[in-house]
Amino acid sequence: MEIVASPLESVGTSPRNADTPFPHRERTETWQQLVKSAIRDPGELARRLGLPAPERPDDTIAAHRQFRTFVPEPYLTRIRPCDPYDPLLLQVMPRADEMTSADGFLSDPVGDLNAMDQPGLIRKYRGRALLVASGVCAVNCRYCFRRHFPYEAAPRSLGDMATALQPVRDDATIQEVILSGGDPLTLTDARLESLVEEIGQIAHVRRLRIHTRLPVVIPQRVTVSLLRTLSGSRLVTIVVLHINHAREIDDAVVAAARRLASSGSMLLNQSVLLRAINDDAATLIELSERLINTGITPYYLHQLDRVRGAAHFEAPVERGRELIAAMRRALPGYAVPRYVCEEPGADSKTLLA
Ligand SMILES: *Cc1c(COP(=O)(O)O)cnc(C)c1O
Ligand code: SF4
Repeated sequence: MEIVASPLESVGTSPRNADTPFPHRERTETWQQLVKSAIRDPGELARRLGLPAPERPDDTIAAHRQFRTFVPEPYLTRIRPCDPYDPLLLQVMPRADEMTSADGFLSDPVGDLNAMDQPGLIRKYRGRALLVASGVCAVNCRYCFRRHFPYEAAPRSLGDMATALQPVRDDATIQEVILSGGDPLTLTDARLESLVEEIGQIAHVRRLRIHTRLPVVIPQRVTVSLLRTLSGSRLVTIVVLHINHAREIDDAVVAAARRLASSGSMLLNQSVLLRAINDDAATLIELSERLINTGITPYYLHQLDRVRGAAHFEAPVERGRELIAAMRRALPGYAVPRYVCEEPGADSKTLLA
């Protein structure tokens, strides 16, 4: 889906310099400009971070062609230069290993295509329906379980989305609509506002949940009008962020989370257990501490979905269980996420610890 330009919105006030009689505006980029200027080339990403050329360049380019490199500037600034093992870099830099096939790693590991009863609407669990509200993200995470998802089948226009919601209107047991994607916050504020209104008109729907990584990768996404849409709806709103490492939470992300919380939304986080990125106790404990100190409750730690191209990210379930045990010893109970995996056909996520 194209990111449609909306009228520029300025977030906050322009700073004034006390030493000059003329107030001057600091150049602040909108989230949409930051999406447009994102790095889309693995070579440029390597150059910007002072990294050597990749090993097996042909496979690295093939990996990039299969699932495009996409890293916006505010995320780039959190990656340590000159460190090929930086845990943030490893999430976004294509690598040759993605082209190595591994048994059991599939295109649609969680059976989404079977559960799609209408283009763009996935109903797997009781009381909840998931709308694929956008086919694009503001960052492309290499381990993503939807890296091969046929987004062409997702609704594109607001009219398509209204149509996709018909099974929700027809089924009074559905109390919660989950906006996912892609990343639903790639929609413009105007579109989101209309979509939330459309959902709010379905009387039996009580809750709106938004799964997004955008406030993390581009904190500028938390605009005044997004906050207005969230706080203005009669629906209970829940925002599930997606953060895998404490270093993804910089001061701008803390401020964005505070603003989101001020809209009255409940803030949760889900992480994916990722080998060499967050599969050690100190890293996960630090992540949970940073989350709760930011007002975000750890919700899920996901076992990696076995998507083709992501085998090198997998940590064994036994390791995950040990890590949860270590977190339980170190943290308040509410700061320990539920360790889960997704099994096609199951009627809930499967609890691993
Ligand atoms: C994960 C998921 C949900 C939400 O599950 P919760 O356990 O409520 O977080 C809903 N629908 C689909 C299709 C999902 O994959
Ligand atoms: S933001 Fe989420 S959906 Fe998008 S690429 Fe990353 S993991 Fe996948």
